[in-house]
Amino acid sequence: MDLRSQRLDCVRNSVASTLLRRLHPLATAANQGSMLESPASSQPYFASSVQEHVDGGLTAANLDTMQVNLGKLCNQTCSHCHVDAGPERREVMARATMEDCLDVIRRVGIANVDLTGGAPEMNPHFRWLVAELKDTGCRIIDRCNLTILSTPGFEDLAAFLAANHVEVVASLPCYLESNTDRQRGDGVFAKSIAALKRLNALGYGYHDTSLVLSLVYNPIGPQLPPNQAELEAAYRRELLQRHGLSFTRLYTITNMPISRFLAELQQSGRYDEYMQRLIDSFNPHTLDGLMCRRMVSVDWQGYLFDCDFNQMLDLPIGGVQRTHIRDLDDEKLQQLRSRAIVVGRHCFGCTAGSGSSCQGAVAN
Ligand code: SF4
Ligand code: SF4
Repeated sequence: MDLRSQRLDCVRNSVASTLLRRLHPLATAANQGSMLESPASSQPYFASSVQEHVDGGLTAANLDTMQVNLGKLCNQTCSHCHVDAGPERREVMARATMEDCLDVIRRVGIANVDLTGGAPEMNPHFRWLVAELKDTGCRIIDRCNLTILSTPGFEDLAAFLAANHVEVVASLPCYLESNTDRQRGDGVFAKSIAALKRLNALGYGYHDTSLVLSLVYNPIGPQLPPNQAELEAAYRRELLQRHGLSFTRLYTITNMPISRFLAELQQSGRYDEYMQRLIDSFNPHTLDGLMCRRMVSVDWQGYLFDCDFNQMLDLPIGGVQRTHIRDLDDEKLQQLRSRAIVVGRHCFGCTAGSGSSCQGAVAN
């Protein structure tokens, strides 16, 4: 099946539409930024809250991870998506941009490369990139939505990931069908369970194999995630008893007030309440472990950001002027390691409670 047919198949399966398709005002980063940073709001600015605990504000501590967003194309249209991804999106990273990323990964010796999207596997150069990354010896992470593994044209994807020792980080917001389908679309839970069984059959998710299968939980609504260790124990028990499934670990992630989740909050009239919850739960012990302090994020065009969230809000690394990955000379690379992080009120999503990152909670 060619990419166009795959897209049409995905459209038929989708349950919602993107903000872009709906011509929703919050489809633009500028309008999201205006809402979040409104001077009329009495809520504190994130930079001021950080300043009370860290002189000089938030800065990078190292550079060991590159998160590469391969595009906004996805076979799903989840209600909370911070990327506004979907089947009709056309933004996908070109191979030349991947080569620019590989050049930096090799020069710096980046330890972790985190492939995200959209559904990163729908990028037509995904498998080529994985093969090139494997040669660098880095840890390769694929943020997989699970349903892509049974999408026509991708039936051999799970075996490809296993053969290349790609770590799978898979979204499963609940071990109950109704909750998962409510957030991610009708039928997603059943397909996700089938995909997890397939990954288990390939050796993923068992403690005595090197094939890592991490699950990701995020709340269905405007709540904070529960304790990560306790929820992991519940997932382990329920998925084993109900479906005979095994997995390596669970990450709990807070819903960021960005894009489709921001639009949901606005529509339900719960935006102020949710932001206040995040602000009231600000935990300074999370500041050391924030993921932006050790990574860079690359968008589908090759521009650099502190994280995927800043990418979606169009807040470029270092401030106003965009930096392309191909322009990173040794001096600029060195500067990245201690740069000031660009922050906004959305960052309260990373510091609430136990904190949140692409690797789950950051403080216990
Ligand atoms: S949350 Fe993930 S799977 Fe869902 S639409 Fe967004 S990118 Fe796709
Ligand atoms: S959203 Fe989170 S990861 Fe991104 S810059 Fe803010 S604190 Fe850092």
